[in-house]
Amino acid sequence: MKQRIALLGSTGSIGTQTLDVVSRYPEMFEVHTLVAGTQWELLAQQAIEYDADTVVIADESRYELLSDALADYPVKVFTGAKAIEQVVASSEVDVVVNALVGYAGLHPTVAALRAGKKLALANKESLVVAGELVMRLSAENHAPILPIDSEHSAIFQCLVGEQSPMRRLVITCSGGALRDLPLEALADVTPEQALCHPQWQMGRKITIDSATLVNKGFEVIEAHWLFGVGADKISVVIHPQSIIHSMVEFEDGALKAQLGTPDMRIPISYALLFPYRATLESEPFDFVKHSTLSFSEVDHAKYPALGIAFECMRRGGNAACVMNGANEIAVEMFLSGRCRFTDITRAIEYALEHATFVVTPTLEDYDRSDVESRALAREFLLSRE
Ligand code: NDP
Repeated sequence: MKQRIALLGSTGSIGTQTLDVVSRYPEMFEVHTLVAGTQWELLAQQAIEYDADTVVIADESRYELLSDALADYPVKVFTGAKAIEQVVASSEVDVVVNALVGYAGLHPTVAALRAGKKLALANKESLVVAGELVMRLSAENHAPILPIDSEHSAIFQCLVGEQSPMRRLVITCSGGALRDLPLEALADVTPEQALCHPQWQMGRKITIDSATLVNKGFEVIEAHWLFGVGADKISVVIHPQSIIHSMVEFEDGALKAQLGTPDMRIPISYALLFPYRATLESEPFDFVKHSTLSFSEVDHAKYPALGIAFECMRRGGNAACVMNGANEIAVEMFLSGRCRFTDITRAIEYALEHATFVVTPTLEDYDRSDVESRALAREFLLSRE
C-alpha cells in the first residue's frame, strides 16, 4: 500500500527536495497534504502537480488567494497554525515530513506523534526546544522519528545493525560561511556574506545558524535526544569539505563514518524509504578528486554559540527553548539589518541570563518560554540600535 504523506514546509528547501524524491516513487508514495507558510502560488502549483488532497497555508491573509487559485480543483484548503495540527493527525496520513523552520514546527511534531504517525524530521528545533517531551511521545505512541538532518541521518546509518554501545558521536561541521574570516571581522559581516554557505543551499535561517554555529549547537542537542547520549560523548570537529557527514566511534576503537558528496536527497530518501535506499542519479564518488579530508578544532572564541548549546543541554529544563527563541528573533533582526552578526550570540546570552527557568516544562511552559525569550532578545537588541 502507498504511504500517504503530509509534507509540512513544502515550499522550502527541504520541502521541494522531498517532492523531488517522492516524485521518483509514485508506486510507493502519495502526496496527501501540503503545508506552507506564505508562498501561496507555489503551494497551489504543487497541489495541482502532485494531486494533493489537502493544503494548509499558515498565513491567514493568503487564504483567499490560495482558495481562488485552487477553486477548479478538488483540493481542500485550510489556514492557520491549528489547521496544521489537525491535518497531520488525519487518519488518511501515514507519514509526516516536518520541514517547517523554527518553533512553528513543535506543535505539529507533537500532534503527529500523539496520533502515532511516522515522523521524518527535518525541523530540528522541535527536538532542541522540547526533546524530552518529543522523545517521550514518540515512545508512548510507538511513533518512530527518522532524522532528515544530514549529520543525524549519517549517525543513524552508522548505527544500523550495531548491538554494542558507542564510545562517542563525532559531528562534523563545515564551519559555515564565515569560517575563513578572523574573529575581529565578524562584527561587520553583512547578511549577504553570512548567507553564502560554502557547501549547502538551504533556507535563510539555517544558513545564518550555520555561520554562528548555533546550528551545530542545535545538532548536538538533537543528537543527544535522538541517540540518547550525554554531552560528554558528543564531539564536534570542523571538516571544511563536508564529505564526512558524521561518525560513530565504538568501544573497541572502531569508527564508522557516512560520507559522500553533499546532497540532502540522500537523508530525505533514507528517512522515507528506511530500511531501503533510493536510486538517485549521481557520479560515483571520486576519491582522487577529493583527496584531502581535513579536520580542525572549533575556535570557541569565534563561535561561542556552540559552548552555549552544550551548557543548555547540561542545564536541561527550558534552557534550550530560551536559546532557540532568542536566536530566532536575533536572526530575523540580523537579516533585516537591525543588529550585528555578533549580537546574535549576545542576545542569546542575555535571554538565558534573564529568562524564567523551568525544570520540567510542559508544552504550555515551552510556549510561554518561547514568548518570553523572544521578548528578552528583542529588548536587548532594541537597546543596542
Ligand atoms: P526554508 O526556509 O527553506 O523552508 C521553510 C518552510 O517552512 C517553508 O515552506 C515555509 O513556507 C514554511 N514555514 C515557515 N514558517 C512557517 C509557519 N509559521 N507555519 C507554516 N509554515 C511555515 O527552510 P529549510 O527547508 O532550509 O529548513 C527547514 C527545516 O529543516 C529547519 O528546521 C532546518 O533547520 C532543517 N534543515 C534544513 C536543511 C537544508 O538543507 N535546508 C538541512 C538540515 C536541516 P513559506 O516559504 O511558504 O513561507
